[in-house]
Amino acid sequence: MKYISTRGQAPKINFSDTLITGLASDGGLYLPENYPQLSTESLEKLRDLSYPDLAFAIMKLFIDENDIPHNDLKVIINKTYTKEKFSYTRECQDSKDITPLTKVDNHLYLLSLSNGPTLAFKDIAMQFLGNIFEYLLHKKNKALNILGATSGDTGSAAEYAMIGKKGVNVFMLSPRGKMSPFQTAQMYSLHDNNIFNISIDGFFDDCQDIVKGVSNDLEFKDKNQIGAVNSINWGRIIAQVVYYFKGYFSSTRSSDELIDVTVPSGNFGNICAGHISRMMGLPIRKLIVATNENDVLDEFFKTGAYKPRASDDTYHTSSPSMDISKASNFERFVFDLIDRDPEKLRSLWKKIDQGESFDLSNTGYFGKVSNYGFTSSSSSHQNRLHFIKLLHEKYNLIIDTHTADGFKAAFDHFDQSEEIPMVVLETALPTKFEETVMEAIKLKPPRPDGLSNIEQLPQRSFEIENDINQVKQFIESHS
Ligand SMILES: *Cc1c(COP(=O)(O)O)cnc(C)c1O
Repeated sequence: MKYISTRGQAPKINFSDTLITGLASDGGLYLPENYPQLSTESLEKLRDLSYPDLAFAIMKLFIDENDIPHNDLKVIINKTYTKEKFSYTRECQDSKDITPLTKVDNHLYLLSLSNGPTLAFKDIAMQFLGNIFEYLLHKKNKALNILGATSGDTGSAAEYAMIGKKGVNVFMLSPRGKMSPFQTAQMYSLHDNNIFNISIDGFFDDCQDIVKGVSNDLEFKDKNQIGAVNSINWGRIIAQVVYYFKGYFSSTRSSDELIDVTVPSGNFGNICAGHISRMMGLPIRKLIVATNENDVLDEFFKTGAYKPRASDDTYHTSSPSMDISKASNFERFVFDLIDRDPEKLRSLWKKIDQGESFDLSNTGYFGKVSNYGFTSSSSSHQNRLHFIKLLHEKYNLIIDTHTADGFKAAFDHFDQSEEIPMVVLETALPTKFEETVMEAIKLKPPRPDGLSNIEQLPQRSFEIENDINQVKQFIESHS
């Protein structure tokens, strides 16, 4: 299996190189040359597998034996998806499922994805990435300095995945004083030698601009072996494909049944994995994109116009991990939508990269969006409060603000009488966004054991001005 860039001007590479490279040299994103196809019979054979065995069965379809020997892949997967690492589930303390499914109502389900160390779905992919990076760097006798920017969840998931990994340092930029106390504590309470929290005097966008600036300095990047684990990394997408299969098998009895899936979305990484599962033959009828007030994706799926907004026009909402107005992974879906025409894709993204927009409404392409199952909804702070309250009062479940956006969208599209399972993906545990949950239900959501006093632990961060040169100096002197 080779990987091609959506923009068609970068060499084809194998799986392991997509992990280290991240963005293709032509600015595009990597996708497999084709999607492996699974028939109803082959799906049926996967139905009863444990999570790690399912992960192996799916991921090996995307990875050549001579790139990563499949026995090694199996070891990495078995080391990643353990009960110990993914143990924080509220209902299923002993679940071996990794991503347990809860029945909410007839034909309505919640797929828990937030049982990893940082209590958000990003752990599922990031923990895998941490282990496979360590393996690859050891094999290639290389080291890597991972540079990233975070507004909260990505940074902690990356750091918890890279703690103690040989050959890897993490330099994570975060905006000083702009994250929730829990998120800050999760990151800054880490004192490991290979983790550097850089607290920038500025906003998230300033942090992201510094990261982009450093990555565009190819000489510096090469010399200092700078890598990234952001959401365009193919390794993250492929790890996320697995739980769509798991959710499908848990909510159906035979592999000719259809399901609908609702996904709280920001950078389109999570739902992109849903798209790929569907392209592989997983019987998903609808893929419902849930956005918050930052609704550029909802606008596209309703009108055909994709109009990313500048960071100044991005709202700060109570589901902050979805406060994104330019969805990086959306390029992967559009590539498939326009029949994988790289020239056409380049002309569309030329506009996006210049800060403009594109509109497919008058092309044949927009009519085909529904062939891919996509539909969407957006939600507001009031909607979030309503659905957190509803789920608690009616179903005795406490959900976080992002998952609440998911339920808002799911109910917009759910028709119980159709008897088609609606699976809502849970993207974080409520304790991460305690303030809004308390506003809705006047109750403090439960916290996993061991995290109750996290805000009181000693914190370490390196304070740096909003200045790219100072960040570069810091990396050079600490790597
Ligand atoms: C990252 C994140 C999202 C958005 O996921 P994408 O893959 O960027 O679409 C939603 N909810 C939570 C809690 C997140 O951390």
